[in-house]
Amino acid sequence: MIDYNVDSDGIATITWNVVNRPMNVMNADSNAAFAAAVKKAVADANVRGVIVASARKEFIAGADLAIILAVETVEESMALTDQISRLLRDIELSGKPFVAAINGVALGGGFEICLACHCRIAADSPHVQVGLPEVTLGLLPAAGGTQRLPRLIGIKNSLPYLLEGKKAGVRDALKLGMIDKVVPAGELLVQAKNWIMAQDGGPAIKPWDAKGFTVPGGKPQTPANQALFMGANAMLLSKTQGLYPAPEAILACVYDGCQGSIDAGLGIEQRHFARLATSVTTRNMIQSLFYSMGDANRLASRPKDVPPSDYKKLGVLGAGMMGAGIAYTAAQSGLEVVLLDTTVEAASKGKGYSAALLEGSVKKGRMSTDKAETILRLITPTANYNDLAECDFIIEAVFEDRAVKAEVLKKIEAVIPNTTVIATNTSTLPVTSLAEYVSRPQDFIGLHFFSPVERMPLLEVIKGKKTSPQTIAKGLDMAKRLRKTPIVVEDCRSFYCNRAFALFVYEALIMLKEGVAPALIENATRQTGLPMPPLALVDEVSVELLYKATKAAMDDLGDQYKPQPQDEVLTKFVEELGRLGKKVGKGFYDYEGGKKKLWSGLSEVYPVAAEQPTVEEIKTRILFVQAVEAARCVEEGIVAPKDADVGSILGWGFPVAYGGAISLIDTVGAAKFAAECDRLADAYGERFLPPPQLRDIAAKGQRYIR
Ligand code: NAD
Repeated sequence: MIDYNVDSDGIATITWNVVNRPMNVMNADSNAAFAAAVKKAVADANVRGVIVASARKEFIAGADLAIILAVETVEESMALTDQISRLLRDIELSGKPFVAAINGVALGGGFEICLACHCRIAADSPHVQVGLPEVTLGLLPAAGGTQRLPRLIGIKNSLPYLLEGKKAGVRDALKLGMIDKVVPAGELLVQAKNWIMAQDGGPAIKPWDAKGFTVPGGKPQTPANQALFMGANAMLLSKTQGLYPAPEAILACVYDGCQGSIDAGLGIEQRHFARLATSVTTRNMIQSLFYSMGDANRLASRPKDVPPSDYKKLGVLGAGMMGAGIAYTAAQSGLEVVLLDTTVEAASKGKGYSAALLEGSVKKGRMSTDKAETILRLITPTANYNDLAECDFIIEAVFEDRAVKAEVLKKIEAVIPNTTVIATNTSTLPVTSLAEYVSRPQDFIGLHFFSPVERMPLLEVIKGKKTSPQTIAKGLDMAKRLRKTPIVVEDCRSFYCNRAFALFVYEALIMLKEGVAPALIENATRQTGLPMPPLALVDEVSVELLYKATKAAMDDLGDQYKPQPQDEVLTKFVEELGRLGKKVGKGFYDYEGGKKKLWSGLSEVYPVAAEQPTVEEIKTRILFVQAVEAARCVEEGIVAPKDADVGSILGWGFPVAYGGAISLIDTVGAAKFAAECDRLADAYGERFLPPPQLRDIAAKGQRYIR
């Protein structure tokens, strides 16, 4: 786990080699072994200096999050951080020179070990990245990161790394002073040793332990830093709506901690960490972003006995907005793509989308011209079905029209091998019904991408009634190849994400109809942490699209369709007012000269009621209506609870502070949530009624997750 070796010159090398985990991680065992090695080296009079190194590809990837989730009380948290904090102080105060030989990623606790060493030497390799990404999981670096980094590189330079979890490659890290030296990878250990040998034999001392130390760039209350803190506070609050305590705690650690000694600062850091580690927000973030999303990315729900697929050529039917995005994403992952549309011109226009994006990357210096050309060459535009003959996977993304889809599905089946999987990117038509147009429904699946495809990480993998487990495995393999996070969803109208998301925006339309002031709806929703207020969002996706989806549901379901309160609003805006959304410059907002403002005529169409609900009531309605629909999807077996969380976060930006649409119920407590839903159902309608499974979970005092 931790290897220890002393050479004939008295150089001890402590090598991290946590073989029983996929990466070098800091947990109870590895920390204890590291502490023992440090103690041994410090106590050994023959040891003149210590190299901290790694035997694996990474240096140290950070702390094992399981040890943080296991912490339940402030006391447990303090005990945990106290141990590591003391150990790192022992290194600093040992008098012996410690040097970190950084061969790969050194993140979180891994970089904090480096910061405690007297010198940091990194291999000149693109694999080396240093940083403190704790904030992205609702935490703060609790092994001295908030104290040592500002003391090393100054408050101004450290804040982006602490508040945004930014990572630095060797060049940036060297420029800022996060590391001291970059050397050829093969010379890393030799150079680390040379550095120790070059020390004069006097006690090694950290800058902040030397007399007269001042923080580079000055203390927090210098005028420049003061302005920095004021700006950062305001920016944070507008970004987080006060929902995420970690960045605020980090700012407090830096401000208060940099006033006095490093030891006092470390104490402040530990206390703030304890508050975060035991907070529901942080636990939600770790569970959903690390564990649930990790499971999805590892394809945990992939049928196990199916051998992995190796794809070479993807056929994309339809080179419109979605097809063009899918083609770009696939080519980026190295797949050959045949992009088919009704004419070669239309298909080439779809390829042009990739050309434009690649050109942008080259211009910004993110990609070489050679690489961009190689990627672009992978896409072949065509109108000839025979060009699809060698494709081992097909994704159809033609118009959302049953007849058009039926026609293209028939045509491709005639040319592709009978082993090729056919996927549809339909957003509303049940996959099972489209499977009727192919002769191998077992090889037919839904892959529901989100727009813009190249930026949205989520992929819903939809199982039709007859889709075989092999095909599900192959669909998940394609998701992985395209670097998407897949969730497996059973077939139903609108699948999972669009179904639950629609209820969110419809709730806003219903409020509008009730006479709730539009600005109140928008601003209260912003405070829930959702990325965009609902009326603006409806304009963005287009009022007409939601109107058409409703019409399609009416046509498909006939007498079975249950009229919904928002139907009237959509009809009025499309049929009577022609306010179709942003694309025509008018919807719930007016769009003029690149600016938008709520349409002044709204109150004539839906007069504002004399009595307005509280902000809290609007927030509750907006969040609960999504969560209760997610619970319905879980009960119907459409999606698993963890996938429901992942889908809500990645699909429509459900605030991760609550852990996702299902974890919100656990956060509130199922019993309290169900009771609140009953109240909302009485007041506003049966869409809030808790499904029986939720009542059952509430009655038994259980949770959906953990
Ligand atoms: P689009 O109108 O931009 O593109 C459709 C393309 O299909 C057009 O280029 C059209 O020329 C082509 N096409 C039409 N008939 C064809 C035929 N017979 N043979 C070959 N090509 C044909 O539409 P889009 O937004 O890209 O949507 C495509 C599909 O993806 C739809 O099923 C839609 O529901 C689904 N989808 C859309 C979104 C979205 O946000 N737009 C999101 C997820 C899924």
